[in-house]
Amino acid sequence: MFGHGRFALIDAVRSTDALGLLRELEAIQFESPAAIRQRQEESQAEYFKVLTKVSPFYREYHSFAQLPIIDKDFVKRHRQQLINPDYRGKLMRKKTGGSTGIPFVYSTGTYSHSYLWAGILLSWRAIGYQLGEPVVFLAGSSLFGSGFKQAVYHKLMNTRVFSAFDLSPERMRIYAETIASDRVRLLYGYASAIYRLAQYLLSSPRRLHFVLRGVVCTAEVLTPTMRNTIESAFGAICVNQYGCHEAGVSAYECEHRRGFHLITTRCYPEVLDDGALISTDLSNHAFFMPRYDTGDLVVMENNQCSCGRGFPLIREVIGRSNDMVSDPAGNTVHSAFFGILIREDSRISAFQVIFDERKLIFNLHCRERGVDWSNYLRQVRAVLKFDDIRIVENLSFKTPTSGKHRYVVRVDDVDATLAEARREQILPLLHKGGE
Ligand SMILES: [Zn+2]
Repeated sequence: MFGHGRFALIDAVRSTDALGLLRELEAIQFESPAAIRQRQEESQAEYFKVLTKVSPFYREYHSFAQLPIIDKDFVKRHRQQLINPDYRGKLMRKKTGGSTGIPFVYSTGTYSHSYLWAGILLSWRAIGYQLGEPVVFLAGSSLFGSGFKQAVYHKLMNTRVFSAFDLSPERMRIYAETIASDRVRLLYGYASAIYRLAQYLLSSPRRLHFVLRGVVCTAEVLTPTMRNTIESAFGAICVNQYGCHEAGVSAYECEHRRGFHLITTRCYPEVLDDGALISTDLSNHAFFMPRYDTGDLVVMENNQCSCGRGFPLIREVIGRSNDMVSDPAGNTVHSAFFGILIREDSRISAFQVIFDERKLIFNLHCRERGVDWSNYLRQVRAVLKFDDIRIVENLSFKTPTSGKHRYVVRVDDVDATLAEARREQILPLLHKGGE
């Protein structure tokens, strides 16, 4: 009951109702697929009605299926037309960029925000977490936020935040000892960071005693090897969670781990032939992004999960960035560190980091020339120790055969890769002089 009170207080401060929605979803998840589809159809019809009524942009459409598929660029170009002028609730400005590399701003209402938290809590609850129990976040600020307000929320939620950007052996020792000594019941965060912590634990001669109910990974690919390593290091079940908030996508693994149960009372998902996940956040009546391309590729599971939950299953999410940069000294940062570093900077449209044993190159794609990037250079040098760390501009990105953009690429020889990029270069180089 103590835990409930704390979460109710957060809801009151935030004008959300994550707790109420969590209770609702805990019941709805065990309804039949048909009953859940019925709920979704009602939400979708209501969404379409509001959309075509208030948005001049969408007024001409007669059915949901006719709506064009949109992406981040579309949203950036048509931001004004996507705002619901009739929406009277509290507007929440959202920013992504950590995992996508390109800054992206959109808005939601309090209902979507309630769904965001109810979805996370539902994934924790699936492995036995009780509200108010101690939780550790091992992640970047894109996941846990920063600032005073967030600090208060974390206090109320009984969560502690550990940075996934600093995974030196000394930090990992402190993280692990705290998780053990504070009797933390749930570990939540980036799969790659938790995996590294697990590897560290298994290689350490010291055995710590954990009382975790489980580990919930998010935002990245969790391979079977990573899962096994995490489970043996912490002696607890490890499940995965997947979300794309702007598309209303919130999905969680249950104890059977047959894939992600997608909360379809919130969203209307569509999977294209190539696996691209298109989704509409039906809970967002404040800012419309119908049929939004999440940029993720998924494979759906046609069979039902034996847990009895009626939400459809995403069998696998493929092609997401889960890259870490490690320097020769053993310092490690998540690729999202670079994304967060530059996400407020509108001069930068995209980036890529390439590195080898001794050299790291931060390749920025930008419109302006001759900009002083020394501040970024300083920040990168503060966390990573390479013989040589440099920023270059507008060199072609190194693209893997999958074609999906990689934000961080480890190569055998940075100099050779750079020479290749210069040959392929399509964008003008900085300081090339005179042109
Ligand atoms: Zn299940």
